[in-house]
Amino acid sequence: MSLHTSAIERLCLRDIPLSSYSTYGIGGAANYVALPETVEDLTALYQDCQTKGLPWYNFGMGSNILFPDHPERDRVFISLKRLTELRAENGKWFVSAGTPMSMLSLMGLSGGSDQLDFTFLLPGCLGAGIYMNAKYNHRQICDIIDTVYYIDLSSSSFIVQSIPAGECDFAYKQSIFQHHPWIIVGADLKIPVHSEEQIQYMSSLVPAWKERGSHPSSLPHFFSFFLGEVHALAGKGIEAPQSMLDIIKYRTSKKHFDYPSCGSVFKNNYDYGVAIGSLVEQLHLKGTEHGGAIISPHHGNMILNQNHAKASDIQYLMQVITEAIDRKFGFVPEPEIVIV
Ligand SMILES: Cc1cc2nc3c(=O)[nH]c(=O)nc-3n(C[C@H](O)[C@H](O)[C@H](O)COP(=O)(O)OP(=O)(O)OC[C@H]3O[C@@H](n4cnc5c(N)ncnc54)[C@H](O)[C@@H]3O)c2cc1C
Repeated sequence: MSLHTSAIERLCLRDIPLSSYSTYGIGGAANYVALPETVEDLTALYQDCQTKGLPWYNFGMGSNILFPDHPERDRVFISLKRLTELRAENGKWFVSAGTPMSMLSLMGLSGGSDQLDFTFLLPGCLGAGIYMNAKYNHRQICDIIDTVYYIDLSSSSFIVQSIPAGECDFAYKQSIFQHHPWIIVGADLKIPVHSEEQIQYMSSLVPAWKERGSHPSSLPHFFSFFLGEVHALAGKGIEAPQSMLDIIKYRTSKKHFDYPSCGSVFKNNYDYGVAIGSLVEQLHLKGTEHGGAIISPHHGNMILNQNHAKASDIQYLMQVITEAIDRKFGFVPEPEIVIV
């Protein structure tokens, strides 16, 4: 390749269906899709897009995104899911934005800590987990973050800056990153490095994930990779704690990995005090179908792609739920999934 090849030419796949990059399995063909593996390549892409006047869209594993059936032809779709570096530095962990959150639970397991158990089988990458302040039960991603590293896309130099977790305005499914054009590239965790064995184990996991788990963005792939790793650790005498076994039980009983989905479609309204899934159940909407989509019979706040659904089918069912909740309970639920 010539020295003058642009970053877009060098790094973009062409005419690729976005459906392979979202756990919804929905999304039409994009003209440009890039999966940079280093921050240098990521910034080179931004610079090239800026020079050529092309808009871009950043995402991770696509487990909280509804891509359009007909993406804009000019847009460069940039997934950070191959930006997966884990570094032990000064006794702490630095973790790149594309690392799956679920990998952190194995970091905890291999280091004898229960602080990271809640990330087990939580789909998506750490960058988006910080952006969304992803949570499971009462534990949130912000509990384990020390410092976040990000690129401010409004400054044309695209240099990496840092912000302490205490200044990130974390709240329920909220962070400062939702209010600024800041792209997270990694974070230091509060979790101490445990041992040389733990470092070696974690550095062997990253290439295994890249090779076997990360593509396509599919929930069965994701589930079988992390379940397999837990079994492999058990074979070495490191047994998963009850908290992780409970997560397997909960997520499999709710059929989280059986059909393409993006998890909960709406944020819970804590002022109202009843989970959206329960309200949908009270409204007898579970099992409602439209096109190839269905409101999950197992979890009222999930809409599944059961048979080649289109983005418009999912949006139709979201509208059905929104109108029914507004009519009966008097509020408009806020979407959790990001509609691109
Ligand atoms: C079966 C299932 C169960 C789920 N259960 C839970 C749960 O228990 N708790 C929970 O909180 N969530 C849950 N989710 C949702 C999902 O796990 C989280 O929202 C996760 O953080 C999404 O990560 P992602 O990499 O897939 O993000 P994407 O879907 O790729 O992106 C989501 C948003 O983050 C932005 N973004 C992505 N990367 C970055 C970055 N590096 N910097 C800045 N912005 C970025 C994107 O622009 C987009 O707006 C579930 C999803 C599924 C499919």
